[in-house]
Amino acid sequence: MEKFAKPGDFCPNEACADYGKLQTSQQQNIKKSGLTAKGVQRYQCKACLKTFTETYGTIFYGKRTSEHEILETLALLAEGTRISTLSRVKGHKEDTILQWLREAAQHTEQIEEVLMAEYRVKRGQLDALWAYVRNKGEKKLSRNG
Ligand SMILES: [Zn+2]
Repeated sequence: MEKFAKPGDFCPNEACADYGKLQTSQQQNIKKSGLTAKGVQRYQCKACLKTFTETYGTIFYGKRTSEHEILETLALLAEGTRISTLSRVKGHKEDTILQWLREAAQHTEQIEEVLMAEYRVKRGQLDALWAYVRNKGEKKLSRNG
């Protein structure tokens, strides 16, 4: 099981000087910034002023791939694009995409909010996506993405 940093522990904005730096008692640039409509904690980075939710504090930490790319891939999957097609078109290993899916499935509430709000994914498509993950999740993958 991959270890995740806690939400609000770092800035997820790749363009930010503080990107990926864990906060310490000396350096605290991430502040709480209210809740989303669904009650998910929102944070703001004082260095770049970007706001983000717990979503970004979990599955995206430590990934080389941008959060936009991961979310877009998940959105396309939800819309019914096959993993093999996405792998070919986007250039990510199928195992990597499956890994993102499995991690997303552990944070469905936060991921759903972003996918529905920013990528226009529908409720039913998300349900199908999580069902797909549960089936795929049973199989052991040959390597980790
Ligand atoms: Zn920042």
